[in-house]
Amino acid sequence: MKLSDTLPSNAAPIIAIDGPAGAGKSSVAVRLAGTLAIPYLDTGAMYRAVGLMAYREGWRPPLDPASDGPAVASLSEGRLRLEPGAERMQVWVDEVEVTDEIRSPECSEMASAVSALSEVRRALVPEQRRMGLLKGGVMEGRDIGSVVFPDALLKVFLTASAQTRAKRRYEELVARGLDVTLEEVLKDQAERDLRDSSRADSPLQVASGAVVVDTSALSLDQVVERLAGLFLDLREAGLSAASTDVKKK
Ligand code: C5P
Repeated sequence: MKLSDTLPSNAAPIIAIDGPAGAGKSSVAVRLAGTLAIPYLDTGAMYRAVGLMAYREGWRPPLDPASDGPAVASLSEGRLRLEPGAERMQVWVDEVEVTDEIRSPECSEMASAVSALSEVRRALVPEQRRMGLLKGGVMEGRDIGSVVFPDALLKVFLTASAQTRAKRRYEELVARGLDVTLEEVLKDQAERDLRDSSRADSPLQVASGAVVVDTSALSLDQVVERLAGLFLDLREAGLSAASTDVKKK
């Protein structure tokens, strides 16, 4: 059964934003959601929270799908709460806020490792669909346009050169007071990119029908303006198609 068969015909529209780490997905998604006054959901925050829980329980990469999958997936059951904040997703584990903690380099690595486990994806994807179906909105991740909402109204694949992405991430970590070098960030990023795009379950890929936007030479405003324009055009086209259908009846 296709997901569209299960969607109510009046489901609120979804904008799916996928792409590698550092492509600017979060900044673009938050700003775009604010501009269009629709909800924002960062699915990476969910994998990060599960990564944090696994880390606290003593797991370290590499993880073994057969022996670690079910146990790691069961960690998240009923313990995770997410709410979109003004700047980013706010996350609680067991009602203790972990919004900052899940952004550490250790959690980035653990998120990438746990997200390669099919059991973890099977636990989180239905929750992502449930949240998206509630009110629609801008949803960012790696597999939103390919797996979570393949029928999203607008699908975007944001990318940028490896150097640009690493520099952005490096500046963000330094601003948060972390002691890292650009070389370390580049190396971690290359490992994460490889793991995210080569895993068997829901690898990072350009979803069919997605608009590819290279943000290397674009400002945040330029990207947001372009995507908002695309979304409004698509929505208008959808509305006028629907009204033509109604007139025909
Ligand atoms: O987007 P962010 O970098 O916070 O995501 C952390 C990790 O979670 C990614 O490296 C990726 O491995 C994983 N992820 C995923 N599918 C998503 C969102 C994130 O596998 N939809």
